[in-house]
Amino acid sequence: MEIKQVGVVGAGQMGNGIAHVFALAGYDVLITDISEASLTKALETIERNIERQVSRGKVLSADKRAAMERIKTTLKLADLGQCDLIIEAATERETVKQAIFEDLLPHLKPTTILTSNTSSISITRLASRTDRPEKFMGFHFMNPVPVMQLVELIRGIATDQETWDAMHAVVRKLGKTAASAEDFPAFIVNRILMPMINEAVYTLYEGVGNVKSIDESLKLGANHPMGPLELADFIGLDTCLAIMNVLHEGLADTKYRPCPLLTKYVEAGWLGRKTQRGFYDYRGEVPVPTR
Ligand code: NAD
Repeated sequence: MEIKQVGVVGAGQMGNGIAHVFALAGYDVLITDISEASLTKALETIERNIERQVSRGKVLSADKRAAMERIKTTLKLADLGQCDLIIEAATERETVKQAIFEDLLPHLKPTTILTSNTSSISITRLASRTDRPEKFMGFHFMNPVPVMQLVELIRGIATDQETWDAMHAVVRKLGKTAASAEDFPAFIVNRILMPMINEAVYTLYEGVGNVKSIDESLKLGANHPMGPLELADFIGLDTCLAIMNVLHEGLADTKYRPCPLLTKYVEAGWLGRKTQRGFYDYRGEVPVPTR
C-alpha cells in the first residue's frame, strides 16, 4: 500500500520534527494538536529549522518551499481520517494516547497504519485497544528528528510483516536507518539511556557532584557529546520521569526507581529547555546550572 498522506498527532518538539522530515521527503503532512498555539509554533519551528538546512547547503530553497506547502494543520482530530499513516506524538501519557486512538478510529480508512512515537509505553497494549492491532506499531524517532539518523521500529505482539515492511520502506525514504526492537519497556535506546540519566540525577541528589561537574565528567571522561543532565533538559524532564516510571513498573525492578530529585523538578514545572528551566536555567544569555 502506498503511503502519501501522513497524519501527525501532537505538534510538540517531536511532532514538528517528524512533520519536517516527512514533508522534505515528499509526503503530504497534516498535523493536529489540542493547542492552537502549539500548531502555530510548530510551523514557525519547522520553517526556521529547514531554513537553517538551506543556509548550510543541505536543502535547496525550492525544496523548502515545496515542503512547507505540503504541511497543513488542523485542530480537528477527525480531519486525519483520510491519512494513510498516523504517527501519534502527543504527551507521554497512556490515557492521552489511548483517547487519541479511540477518537480517531471511527474516521479512519481500514487500510490506515497506526503508529506511536512513544518512548516507552507498551505498543501491544496501545494496539490491543484499536480495531487493527496487526496494523499498529511503534515508530520511535530520536530528538532532534531532522538530525538524528535512527528510527526504532517496534513490533507489537500482533504487528504483521506487511506493516513492518511498509514502515521500514518509509524509514528508507526518509534517508534514515531503522533498528528493530521487540516490545518491552522503553525498547532499546531508552532502556539503556534513561537509567544512565536517572543515575546522573541520583549523583546530583546525593551530592557526589554538582550539575557542571557531572556533565563535564561524562563529556570529557566518557566522550559523550552532551552531559546527561543537559541531555535530560533537552529531552524534557517530564518525559524522562515518565520513561523511568514505565521501566520501574514494567520490569518491577528497584534499580529503575526514579530519583526523587527528578520528580521534584517535574513537580516544580521545571521540565528543561521547553519551560526554560530544568537542571539549567535557560532564561539568560547562557544556560546557568540550577544546582
Ligand atoms: P511535547 O510536550 O513537546 O509535545 C506534546 C504535544 O502533544 C503538545 O503540543 C501537546 O499540546 C500535544 N497533545 C497533548 N494531548 C494531545 C491530544 N489529546 N491530541 C493532540 N495533541 C495533544 O512532547 P514531545 O517531547 O514532543 O514528546 C511527544 C512524544 O514523543 C512522547 O510520546 C515522547 O515520549 C516521544 N518522544 C520524545 C522524545 C524527546 O526527546 N522529547 C524522543 C522520542 C520520543
